[in-house]
Amino acid sequence: MPGGTDLTLRPFLWRAENLYPDTEIVSRTHEGIERYTYAEYADRTAQLAHALDAAGIEEGDRVATFCWNHHRHFETYFGVPTTGAQLHTINPLLPDEHIQYIVGNAEDEIVFVDPSLVEKLAGAAEDAVEFDDVEFVVMGEDVPETSLDPVTDYESFVANHETEYDWPELDEDQPAGMCYTSGTTGRPKGVEYTHKMLWAHTMESLSPGGIPMDDDDVVMPVVPMFHVNAWGMPFTATAGGAKHVYPGPSPNPEDLAHLIEEEGVTITAGVPTVWLGLMEYAKENDVDLSSLDSAIVGGSAAPRAMIEWFDDHDVELLHAWGMTEMSPIGSVAHLKAGLEEEPYEDQLKRRSKQGLFVPGLEFRVVDDDGNEIPWNGEDFGELHVRGPSVTTEYFERPDANEEDFEDGWLKTGDIVSVDEEGYIKIVDRAKDVIKSGGEWISSVELENSIMAHDDVSEAAVVGVPHDRWQERPVAFVVPVEGADEEALREGIYEMLREEYPKWWLPDGIEFIDAVPKTATGKFSKKDLREEYSDEDLFEGRAPEEAAPDDD
Ligand code: ADP
Repeated sequence: MPGGTDLTLRPFLWRAENLYPDTEIVSRTHEGIERYTYAEYADRTAQLAHALDAAGIEEGDRVATFCWNHHRHFETYFGVPTTGAQLHTINPLLPDEHIQYIVGNAEDEIVFVDPSLVEKLAGAAEDAVEFDDVEFVVMGEDVPETSLDPVTDYESFVANHETEYDWPELDEDQPAGMCYTSGTTGRPKGVEYTHKMLWAHTMESLSPGGIPMDDDDVVMPVVPMFHVNAWGMPFTATAGGAKHVYPGPSPNPEDLAHLIEEEGVTITAGVPTVWLGLMEYAKENDVDLSSLDSAIVGGSAAPRAMIEWFDDHDVELLHAWGMTEMSPIGSVAHLKAGLEEEPYEDQLKRRSKQGLFVPGLEFRVVDDDGNEIPWNGEDFGELHVRGPSVTTEYFERPDANEEDFEDGWLKTGDIVSVDEEGYIKIVDRAKDVIKSGGEWISSVELENSIMAHDDVSEAAVVGVPHDRWQERPVAFVVPVEGADEEALREGIYEMLREEYPKWWLPDGIEFIDAVPKTATGKFSKKDLREEYSDEDLFEGRAPEEAAPDDD
């Protein structure tokens, strides 16, 4: 194929460098706020590419990062893949065994690590053969005292290299990135992102049905850059010529509020807990969100009250759904033309669904017998997806490929309904849906209803084995401080009875201190089930028998 026609990341970098040389990249780091322009960014990215060459990195080699969101991490986003090497972003919140496994499985040659994460990485690397041939680069100007070896600091690593680089012509099928799913079941599964997948994802995101970004936007991804490329935003923002704002290590709501105000952020993105934190903070403090046009929320379902809160602050909270396997964005809950005429309550209902598929992707929803379900907002089945930004296999996992792919479709493991307008709504994860007496009960719906109670801070519902009904729901509830548990139990049942048929009511409500979380901050029902596997989960039963009647 003649040079320059493949779908690669290089033209996005080229465009930002040449069309927007003065646009800024701002970063909150350990050292304070740093800022420079795309022109300087391009120079440093070229220096990084030379430094990788000097370190012996070749096309196809893997280079990892163990970092928060900041400008140096962003330099690896283009500096690594546009040389033909592959960027593997590691989630530093993973347990040590997973970190060892994925570094070994990916055969990483270099790991770029944040100063505040050096100790965590050194712990995982100690006595682990997977790290034997790995070199470490600390993302700063100094190297803290550490057992990591050999180690250098990033500024010395890139210094003294040329600021021009002759970027190679790459094949679009060349892997550019890599991310492991957090492994809610079994070993983490590696997903490789080719240049073409990331190119397609960038264009899908840039379209009006995605999360469009332009040269007058200021984009702040709060979603970590180790979590599916911060939902692709560093690439999309560059392609659009937007200003970038990176919130750095463990930002708290106050840091986020300051960055929004001071940098004039127009688009930001994060998981629901991030926005809950900001909402809490705003109760006690003045927060000026007037620069914000939209905030993206995804990774877990967004509560309707959150969408309303942002509406009250004149910010559009866009609910999005995606997966590591999809680079990751699949759907965004934009309101279709015409639906703005509906009553506000109906609009809110629609916007709290996971939304409409972005241009470029297709889906189907199939029931247990493999038949497609009707789009009536009620029936549900498993969501299958395909498209140029969706992976077609896992890295070296034929066992998982067999299970998760079918006739070119990725089986998402999400159980959804689709309404007449085509909005998908996640009803449950396939492995969490509760099968009671041949019918399905959505654990997610029960959780959302329980969490709507003022005295509940978290709730997770799981199915536990039952002799007669196969499975029955049990709710694990974290009460707010000082709540009276007996009154709360009664209150929850009262609420649920109004909303659901009797056979949906949990057979028990257990009060716990916290719901265990995965490394990406989601409820870990696997850990919850394990933790309580020896307990009698039918204590704290509904005052009247909640299980389905015998008749
Ligand atoms: P993991 O599968 O390891 O949790 P991912 O980050 O790839 O890692 O998570 C993808 C899953 O997260 C989806 O399949 C879906 O179950 C859930 N998810 C993502 N976005 C949403 C959302 N907006 N609402 C509900 N669930 C979501």
